[in-house]
Amino acid sequence: MREAYEVIVVGAGPAGSVAARRAAEAGLDTLLIEKRQEIGAPVRCAEAVGALATQEFIDEDPRWINARIDYYSVSNRQGDRVVVPPTEPTWVVDRKVFDYELAHVANQAGATVVTSAAATGLLREDGRASGVTIKRFGKTRDVKAKLIIAADGTESQIARWAGLKTVPPMADYYSGAQYLLGNMAGRMEPNRCEYHVGMTMAPGGYLWVFPKSADTANVGIVITSDKTAGGTARDYLDRFVAEHYPGSSILNVVVGGIPATGALKKMVTDGLMTVGDAAHQADPLTAGGINLGMYGADMALQVGIEALRRGDVSAAALQPYEKMWAERFGKMHAALYQIRKMMTQMNPDTLDGLIRTASTLDLQSMTPGAVLMTLLKEYPVMLLQARTLVTTGLILK
Ligand SMILES: Cc1cc2nc3c(=O)[nH]c(=O)nc-3n(C[C@H](O)[C@H](O)[C@H](O)COP(=O)(O)OP(=O)(O)OC[C@H]3O[C@@H](n4cnc5c(N)ncnc54)[C@H](O)[C@@H]3O)c2cc1C
Repeated sequence: MREAYEVIVVGAGPAGSVAARRAAEAGLDTLLIEKRQEIGAPVRCAEAVGALATQEFIDEDPRWINARIDYYSVSNRQGDRVVVPPTEPTWVVDRKVFDYELAHVANQAGATVVTSAAATGLLREDGRASGVTIKRFGKTRDVKAKLIIAADGTESQIARWAGLKTVPPMADYYSGAQYLLGNMAGRMEPNRCEYHVGMTMAPGGYLWVFPKSADTANVGIVITSDKTAGGTARDYLDRFVAEHYPGSSILNVVVGGIPATGALKKMVTDGLMTVGDAAHQADPLTAGGINLGMYGADMALQVGIEALRRGDVSAAALQPYEKMWAERFGKMHAALYQIRKMMTQMNPDTLDGLIRTASTLDLQSMTPGAVLMTLLKEYPVMLLQARTLVTTGLILK
């Protein structure tokens, strides 16, 4: 590490590595630091990505593709199941290899990548972020930069140190837990991602079963953080696993919180941009954030590179990034946020009933409008939410 770079990226997750790569490709002297000793590990993710979106950033490689998904299913507590194809081909990836490869590509593009290097403070000059303090193997040093990219994940300290408002209300926060389960052969479809919903199983959230190999799967849960009367996310997950997969082995445990708000309104300050989970760019319904974080990083660097060329990295010069994000994902995230709110408030019997009715329909041959009308006929109580549903349907189309 030298004393100064043009760009410092903090955090070598998918968003940070894409940001570092874009900066290096533009010929900027770039440092990517990662506090963990191994990029990608430990994995805190169910590891499902959109194949097309991912291919915009890295070439397909069987070394990090664990499963290719042809179907999604959504089930209720009674076992009724709706099966639909994904809106785009989906892969379940091995994030340990995937994240490592993304950082490797950034390195090949010219970025300096340093692991076991934690940002422990933000430097400022004339009120502008001007570098970071980095701790590595017990030694601390200040490293300056013209532009800092905070890609340090959901608990981003950099964003907080920069004065950005990052703490959402409890009702907009998911608590998550996940097991990598063994002994799963014959208990899941190798090409299907399963979701299970219902207030008694996963209040204000959902459970998932994503295949990883012929006999292992990521089995996890998110619940809304203010709905923990029945226990923690892990308690709910334990009950689900005991009921559905008795005799399975827990090969790995992950717990963590995920903001489900949609992106921060303010994602930049003077000399600093936030990307990925640090900017809350994950989908506010599913909390999936790998591809969205990569898109966020790409947009941030488009603006950041131009700002560096003009020699003006003030917040005003970086704000077109916020606009770019809002134009591409703002409406979609607002709609997904509304769907989550609606599901959280829905009577549990209505949610179960909707899935039961939908499971009897031939969804492949029906238009979304026809599906909606059938469901409304059966559950007129949903008319109250019909406006949200229709606008959401139009936006998501
Ligand atoms: C249980 C669970 C399941 C999930 N499942 C999915 C899924 O199936 N699909 C999906 O798309 N998304 C999923 N997500 C969300 C997904 O994991 C994140 O959206 C994604 O990892 C965000 O990428 P990122 O690069 O912004 O942040 P991260 O991947 O979190 O990377 C941030 C990096 O910054 C490093 N860092 C933090 N602080 C510092 C510091 N001070 N100095 C240096 N480095 C630092 C961290 O060590 C980390 O490597 C899931 C999340 C959870 C918790």
